[in-house]
Amino acid sequence: MSIRIGILGYGNLGRGVECAIKHNPDLELVAVFTRRAPETVKILTETAAVYSVNDAEKMKDKIDVLIICGGSATDLPKQTPEYAKMFNVIDSFDTHARIPEHFDSVDAAAKESGHIGIISVGWDPGMFSLNRLYANAILTNGKDYTFWGKGVSQGHSDAVRRIKGVKDAKQYTIPVEAALEAVRNGENPDLTTRQKHTRECFVVAEEGADLAQIENDIKTMPNYFSDYDTTVHFISEEELKRDHSGIPHGGFVIRSGKTGWNDENNHVIEYSLKLDSNPEFTSSVLVAYARAAYRMNKEGQSGAKTVFDVAPAYLCAADGAELRKHLL
Ligand code: NAP
Repeated sequence: MSIRIGILGYGNLGRGVECAIKHNPDLELVAVFTRRAPETVKILTETAAVYSVNDAEKMKDKIDVLIICGGSATDLPKQTPEYAKMFNVIDSFDTHARIPEHFDSVDAAAKESGHIGIISVGWDPGMFSLNRLYANAILTNGKDYTFWGKGVSQGHSDAVRRIKGVKDAKQYTIPVEAALEAVRNGENPDLTTRQKHTRECFVVAEEGADLAQIENDIKTMPNYFSDYDTTVHFISEEELKRDHSGIPHGGFVIRSGKTGWNDENNHVIEYSLKLDSNPEFTSSVLVAYARAAYRMNKEGQSGAKTVFDVAPAYLCAADGAELRKHLL
């Protein structure tokens, strides 16, 4: 029997989860829940249906794991603890500073209902966190580096779009090649914000807008751009649509460390991602962890978990014997 999945929220991640389920035959999409009028939300899976979030409770015995695909800023802090009262849940909460309090509120709700809630699943937090942990456990005498990009930062693109005279914009975060090289060579450099990443903006200006002013407003924006070297390109609406409509991302988690009695040997661990679609990749991680949540709950576990608490074998559809034979 397949593991029955529900999706809560049908944005980029929700659509990505639906695609990922198609590639995981042991999982079955049963329902999509939305806050919008269900008839306005069209899904691709013919065997599943769209329901209002208000009907979720009625479906609690028909769904094994609910994948919560709301936004981190305001949706997930409310949605994940609320639905952990009824379902095993997974989310991709990515406001790093607020993860401890989110964990506590999901933990209380999930323990009370006897469900599992795996939070902050994706690539950062998620696969990057896991790789930071493995590298720290092994190279205790070393240094961590995380580089993001090349990829689209939604938050920075939004910030540029809010500037007077800007019609539309896309912002890319790009790692500085020289910094990456120094880290890979085991030089353990101390890097400032400016030395690690550059920012590149593609901007469609309103007709008659003051381009010099826009460029200056971007480059001097505190927190977002003032600590970085930023390049601004003005392009047409057609060019933005043609060349910049994707949501690529990726990055590198690197730890270099020393071993030997006199620290004589150097080691570099690197994990890298190059993603054509940030949400579709994140969704693929969510789906693997949904399988783990189902199995862990079946074994009697409950409460909040993160990627740190899930043994790797739970993620794969294949059983232990198969994994030992082919992947060990
Ligand atoms: P999104 O597309 O903005 O979707 C968020 C919610 O907005 C959806 O659940 C949906 O809820 C609602 N929505 C979507 N389209 C709508 C429309 N046309 N009209 C009205 N409402 C609409 O956000 P996303 O790209 O899926 O990302 C969700 C979160 O994932 C982000 O906030 C980010 O924090 C997180 N994330 C994490 C990682 C990681 O590595 N951990 C990576 C990427 C993203 P309803 O269906 O209920 O309306």
